[in-house]
Amino acid sequence: MIIDVHAHVYARPLIPKANGLTFMSAEQQVQRMDEKGIDKAVILPLNSADGPAERQSMGEVLSICEAHPGRFIPFCEIDPRRHDWHTVDDFLWGLEVYQRAGFVGFGELTCRLPFDDPKLMALFGACEKIGFPVTFHTSPPEKPTYGVIDTLFLPRFERVLQAFPELVFFGHSGSFWSEISGDLSAAEKEGYPKGPITPGGTIPRLLRQYPGLNCDISAGSGFNALTRDLEFTWGFLHEFQDRVLLGLDATDVELDFQHIEWLQQAHADGHITIEVLEKLLWRNADRLIGLELGG
Ligand SMILES: [Zn+2]
Repeated sequence: MIIDVHAHVYARPLIPKANGLTFMSAEQQVQRMDEKGIDKAVILPLNSADGPAERQSMGEVLSICEAHPGRFIPFCEIDPRRHDWHTVDDFLWGLEVYQRAGFVGFGELTCRLPFDDPKLMALFGACEKIGFPVTFHTSPPEKPTYGVIDTLFLPRFERVLQAFPELVFFGHSGSFWSEISGDLSAAEKEGYPKGPITPGGTIPRLLRQYPGLNCDISAGSGFNALTRDLEFTWGFLHEFQDRVLLGLDATDVELDFQHIEWLQQAHADGHITIEVLEKLLWRNADRLIGLELGG
């Protein structure tokens, strides 16, 4: 079994990215999943005004799931800046509608608000109450990009972790994964830093301190963090074997991320056990999203 917790899938993608290619259609995504042996993929709608893609409705996401039974797991997304929702109860009301329609999580959260903005705190309170895991993309305030705003060492995110101890987070993006190393500088935060990982990184510290935090290894950002210092990685994957989830985040047909092949090779070479491999490839996602595929 393999579950990809980070996919962006459209019924009919139209607007091309800077490279001239669109995000993947459902048919292209299913073909990619079949090639890689992926049983199920989480669809993360990009629905905030700042997102890097066409916005999509939750109805579109459900239609894709229904057209490909058993292949997709729907997460919902709400831009928390909508003018008429302010409280936990406001957001909870909307999330309950989505939950009844079949949604099981929230993301990808990309809105350009500080992590502890009152609107986001209300949204997080609602996600905690309803039991939806939250996949987020974070980036620093000075960058003209998308993602929830936080600075070096993720101080605002830590306040959120303290405020919502029962909320499950799937952390993602370059500015999240660069925090794995203790020697990170503000200048390198939004990049893909190379070289040895030094002790004292924010991600290991937050993982040890806050049980709700988990890590989505998707895209170049997660892959770079895992492959830049292999001796560190084997220890990290052992210590946090219950907190790391496979994702790919392939945003067009030419991207061919090698996360699955790399993890399987790491197992074949004796660096991670079969138990750890299965947790990363699907058991953690199954448990944290509450899919109950593993019984
Ligand atoms: Zn993404």
